[in-house]
Amino acid sequence: MKKKRVLVTGGSGFLGSHLCERLLEMGHEVLCLDNFFTGSKANILHLIDNPYFEIIRHDVTFPLYVEVDEIFNLACPASPIHYQFDPVQTTKTSVHGAINMLGLAKRIKAKIFQASTSEVYGDPQIHPQPESYWGNVNPHGIRSCYDEGKRCAETLFFDYNRQHSLRIKVGRIFNTYGPRMAMNDGRVVSNFVVQALLGEDITVYGNGGQTRSFCYVDDLVNGIIRFMEETPDEFTGPMNLGNPDEFTILELAETVIEMAGSKSKIVYKSLPADDPMQRRPDISLAKNAINWEPKIKLRTGLVKTIEYFDNHLKSL
Ligand code: NAD
Ligand code: UDP
Ligand code: UDP
Repeated sequence: MKKKRVLVTGGSGFLGSHLCERLLEMGHEVLCLDNFFTGSKANILHLIDNPYFEIIRHDVTFPLYVEVDEIFNLACPASPIHYQFDPVQTTKTSVHGAINMLGLAKRIKAKIFQASTSEVYGDPQIHPQPESYWGNVNPHGIRSCYDEGKRCAETLFFDYNRQHSLRIKVGRIFNTYGPRMAMNDGRVVSNFVVQALLGEDITVYGNGGQTRSFCYVDDLVNGIIRFMEETPDEFTGPMNLGNPDEFTILELAETVIEMAGSKSKIVYKSLPADDPMQRRPDISLAKNAINWEPKIKLRTGLVKTIEYFDNHLKSL
């Protein structure tokens, strides 16, 4: 296998750190770029002694001049509380970030992966969601900075492909969880696990009847790598990457309480605006194109996630 130089933007975040680790294991050289907004040095501390690993502190909304073979563009806060903290910066990160990374890819003729999202389907009226569904997104609500930013990034990726023959791969990632989510990430799995371990109330938003389909991080990274490495140049996606096993948020809360052996009680808080009611990927395309489907069941992934947060809390 040819050793490649690979740029991972958002490389110190949850998914990015797992991707950097996997690329190094595969024998590649990794440039990890991050502005450390939601990422942390702790996520990549174990990689720092590797001579093939480099860290660049940089914001993707500014131009970047490096020489690499491949780019994985993951930079963007992904949790609602973080992407809504500075929504203008969130849109800039997706849109200006995509323009800069595409301009870079064009100059150096690099293949480029975009971390798109199931949020491009908004609050979906088609269930499960196939890639052919155009979605149901509020263009001016509190989630729009993320949803529309990611939709515009997709537009840019496909226009650079059509206009400049860039080699692009657009993956629509569905809810993914696992070790190295930040304690204060705010997404549902890390919130419930941390609350359960601390014996705090489990905060279910709304009546908990809304659904999500949770993918363990190792499965997701496998999917991203296979999409990038094993598909022909003309196969651009968009392609859904996620686990089709669907659960209500209340089911998740009860499962986490049981598995953590917790005495936590469930409390109900108001449902945030535009919170999607149901979400589940149709992964037929990924099954056909890269023979991929997630292997790790929710309970198996939760064992590893609970263990990670348990150790992390004990180390504080
Ligand atoms: P994360 O918040 O842990 O990681 C995002 C990383 O990007 C962080 O390290 C952050 O510091 C960095 N970043 C943010 N803005 C930046 C900027 N302007 N310049 C440089 N770096 C910047 O979230 P994650 O779950 O690891 O998500 C990674 C990517 O995958 C994101 O693009 C996200 O939209 C996408 N995604 C994730 C999920 C999921 O369930 N985890 C689902 C769909 C899409
Ligand atoms: N860019 C970059 N690194 C490069 C090449 C380009 O960051 O190696 C940025 C550059 O700032 C530009 C953007 O990517 O604004 C888009 O580049 P492109 O060549 O597509 O467009 P143009 O430079 O003509 O605006
Ligand atoms: N959620 C919840 N309690 C929490 C955090 C989230 O009930 O402490 C709900 C949230 O309202 C949503 C679902 O869990 O319906 C998934 O939320 P998350 O932020 O993890 O992801 P997204 O909504 O972006 O899919």
